[in-house]
Amino acid sequence: MKLRICHLYGNLLNTYGDNGNLLMLQYVARQLGHEVETTIVSLKDPFVAADYDLLFVGGGQDHEQMVIAKDLPSKRDELVKFIEDGGAGLAICGGYQLLGQYYETADGEKIDGLGALPHYTLRQIDNRFIGDIEIRNERLGETFKGFENHNGRTFLGDGEEPLGRVVEGFGNNGEDGTEGAIYKNIFCSYFHGPLLVRNRHLAKLIIETAVKQAEN
Ligand code: GLN
Repeated sequence: MKLRICHLYGNLLNTYGDNGNLLMLQYVARQLGHEVETTIVSLKDPFVAADYDLLFVGGGQDHEQMVIAKDLPSKRDELVKFIEDGGAGLAICGGYQLLGQYYETADGEKIDGLGALPHYTLRQIDNRFIGDIEIRNERLGETFKGFENHNGRTFLGDGEEPLGRVVEGFGNNGEDGTEGAIYKNIFCSYFHGPLLVRNRHLAKLIIETAVKQAEN
């Protein structure tokens, strides 16, 4: 099949090589015999749920996140529809934060997220969680390795499970031992580096999930 990937705010959310995740998704999809078409959907562009099989959102700085927060309401209904209908996706760091309820910037400004996923993100004062990280997901039978760099402290809500339990590093908030989130078929993580290049089983899982949904 032709796998239609939406790279949401791809021109604004692309720190620390996050776009490598996209290259990995495209590579794995082609290895599995699919054609791939990738479209950047950014400020003022409409997002139509039926036009895409896979959603990718990268990480970003507070400044870009504040700009994007103003645009999110215009895309809310269709993004929520995509996610609630079981659309597959991956969101990293700033993108992960913005899919949630709200995000507090390092300067203490509270901005609304998309509100599609139940987590919320608070700031920490004069500190960032930076370094190598390793997590384990027993249900998936996978260990994921990566690098994190974030000020935000994210707390999961109802219907979300962590992407993994922290073995080494800080994870979502440095307190509860969780890292990332899985909500329906949306995978979220703080890992840069990028996540999928170092964890190719996850890339395969996301592609297979997207293909299954498209064939339903
Ligand atoms: N600005 C956000 C934070 O510091 C996200 C950073 C990122 O995407 N690396 O928490």
